[in-house]
Amino acid sequence: MTDLLAASRALLPELVQLRRLLHRLLHRFPERGNHLPLTRGIVLDALADLPLDLSLHNSTSGVVAALRGSRPGPVTLLRADMDALPVNEDTGLEFASEHPGFMHACGHDLHTAMLVGAARLLSSMQDQLGGTVLFMFQPGEEGFAGARFMIEEGLLDTVEEKPAGAFALHVNTWFASGAVRHRAGAQLASDDEVRITVRGKGGHASSPHLAYDPIPVAAEIVLAVETAITRRINVFDPGVITFATISAGTTHNVIPEHALLVGTIRALSDSTREQLQALVKRVAPHIASAHGMEADVDIDIGYPVTVNDPEHTTFVDSVARQTLDDGQVEWMDTPVMGSEDWGYVLEEVPGTMSFLGACPPGLVPGEAPGLHSNRAVFDEEAMVTGTALHAAVALTRTTTPGT
Ligand SMILES: [Zn+2]
Ligand SMILES: [Zn+2]
Repeated sequence: MTDLLAASRALLPELVQLRRLLHRLLHRFPERGNHLPLTRGIVLDALADLPLDLSLHNSTSGVVAALRGSRPGPVTLLRADMDALPVNEDTGLEFASEHPGFMHACGHDLHTAMLVGAARLLSSMQDQLGGTVLFMFQPGEEGFAGARFMIEEGLLDTVEEKPAGAFALHVNTWFASGAVRHRAGAQLASDDEVRITVRGKGGHASSPHLAYDPIPVAAEIVLAVETAITRRINVFDPGVITFATISAGTTHNVIPEHALLVGTIRALSDSTREQLQALVKRVAPHIASAHGMEADVDIDIGYPVTVNDPEHTTFVDSVARQTLDDGQVEWMDTPVMGSEDWGYVLEEVPGTMSFLGACPPGLVPGEAPGLHSNRAVFDEEAMVTGTALHAAVALTRTTTPGT
């Protein structure tokens, strides 16, 4: 498998060029959400000379490219997300986005380039390949559920058989460049958005007894919810609720009628997720009621827990250890409370996501600007590892029955 690494390294200049093109593209047009026409065009150009059957989705800019092997075998799905974030880039890179408010701050440009690289490598080994590889290029990971739209549009029915295994990588500056990290079971959390509107009665700030001031109630709800989590949720099946926005009022001497809290609910199991939703629906109205007011709770159901199938994760782990250098691959002790719409695919197909370290040289993993930071910089050298690992997973699956 070291040949794959060498072949991947030979592709690096091409992948760097592609990645920078995707990154800088935002100079001219914002490409976030589910519709990324320019990005899709670049990906299609990059795949044009390969022996792939292309399916272009209509509901989104999703692309599924199928590579058929030379003999029967399982269908393997490999995925890259392609979308950017609403972030002003402050990296100072010579290929930095010049479009205010748009940046590839989550590294999806590297994911896209790596999957193109894997398509190129595997196409050159079509005679060794059994079964079919589906390359899933998806938009809308950053809050737009692009993966769910692609499933609804037939992602899993692209070829005759459904995928028997699925694999994705996500770059991360927490880990040294080229490091691979994963765990069986929950790898990332679910993410539901909660909005609480406390309804009081406006009035003069000097006479709160004549009004119903929603601001202290909102503050009490925040603290009561945080306390309730520590009392009601099993510490071994944890959850997080963070109120990240609180807004009310217009000036110093007016009690407003409403206060709004917006936050996120994160969990690593469906049972804790349901408990947290019930908790906030119970606590907020009762706190408000204790003060003679009302609170409306709206929960916008978001991404599911990303659950790595244990068998497939063990398989990917062993492939990674065979393919990469000693010491590059380690198991993670704990999940991460970020979330991913890859969880939608893993609800349908057993599979795995691994993190790929991409901390730039000279910076300390974990201290370097992280995902979604306006200063996030990734080591492009990590694409050698990612491209080789994508290809190795697909190649090995076709020669290892039952994986
Ligand atoms: Zn992200
Ligand atoms: Zn991401």
